[in-house]
Amino acid sequence: MHVFDYSFDMETYMTKERFAQLKEFASTKETPFLVTSLSTVARKYNELEKSMPYVRIYYAVKANPSEEVLTLLAKLGSCFDIASVYELDLVLKLGITPDRLSFGNTIKKARDIEYAYKKGVRLFASDGESDVRKIAQNAPGSGIFFRILANGTGADWPLSRKFGAQPDVIFQNILLAKDLGLKPRGISFHVGSQQHDVTQWRTALSDCKELFDAAKEKGIRLDLVNMGGGFPAHYLHPVEETYVYAAEITDYIREFFGGEFPQIFIEPGRYMVGDAGILVTEVVMISRKERESGIPWLFLDVGKFSGLIETLDESIKYPIYTERTGEANDYILAGPTCDSMDILYEKMPYRLPSSLKEGDRLYFFTTGAYTQTYSAVFFNGFPPLKAYVID
Ligand SMILES: *Cc1c(COP(=O)(O)O)cnc(C)c1O
Repeated sequence: MHVFDYSFDMETYMTKERFAQLKEFASTKETPFLVTSLSTVARKYNELEKSMPYVRIYYAVKANPSEEVLTLLAKLGSCFDIASVYELDLVLKLGITPDRLSFGNTIKKARDIEYAYKKGVRLFASDGESDVRKIAQNAPGSGIFFRILANGTGADWPLSRKFGAQPDVIFQNILLAKDLGLKPRGISFHVGSQQHDVTQWRTALSDCKELFDAAKEKGIRLDLVNMGGGFPAHYLHPVEETYVYAAEITDYIREFFGGEFPQIFIEPGRYMVGDAGILVTEVVMISRKERESGIPWLFLDVGKFSGLIETLDESIKYPIYTERTGEANDYILAGPTCDSMDILYEKMPYRLPSSLKEGDRLYFFTTGAYTQTYSAVFFNGFPPLKAYVID
């Protein structure tokens, strides 16, 4: 059994001063809730822009669609990857213009394509023939890029199988799109979210280059590679710094495309907002199932149904901080609902101080991505996770 020790160095995630500010802000609020820090989002954006000055950043709205985050990123110059007409309405409402949007979901209704087109969206992702036909009919003349499969190896949250198609299928779709009057722009991929293995980008870029060449032979000049997401946030397992990923990926692009880069897009979600969030929760109950042996259970007021769905299969391991110190114990962590699925960490218990008491607060770090919007609506009567934004 693999157990993580609670005594991590807070400075890996944030400064002590920053935590003090967060704690002060949180002290008057009733748990559970998420706090997202805008200055961290800005730092992440600037870091990425600096390490890959040639990319256009399309923030994946689904990761954290809070209006303050979107407004901040718009101000910094970001474009946006939207997945539905609802995300479209949200960004348009904030004054973001449609020339900064890409409809990145390959699964779309014809009427939603039509709606996006009417609102001014002219760039769509696609991976299937029927979708190409729907786009040609409902968004005539639009730019289209094609998503290839990636197997998700090396990623904590793989996104494989469901999206993309094999290059030979994509090639046929490129020709079809051209025939139907669309503008084939290029190729996209997603190497899997929280990707630890930077060579996965190399494999995908190699496929892109082959499709660029095949299209060129048919007289179609592709000029766009959309590298999707995959850049990591800082969870329990250490990850390489942004500039390391950026330098490697830049080398791969040069390897396949030479000195003249195509237009490169990137769609960070988790990377951009993950580190910016802290989820504050309270210990509801500590109990033992056996008298002598066994690991005690720590029940919290958040769980799988209140934002922590990425603990499915214990895929994402959040750093958890408590102000208690001293001798430590292993705990199984579970949520508050009446569903036995609602267990966060059991295969890998967390090592936390044995002095923990019911009513104590725990702080889940790195919860800015894929938490609040995943939260269920009133399961067992528990309201959706509250979310606050600070500077
Ligand atoms: C979810 C998603 C992203 C963001 O992925 P991260 O790994 O969170 O950066 C980017 N592009 C597309 C098409 C997505 O579906």
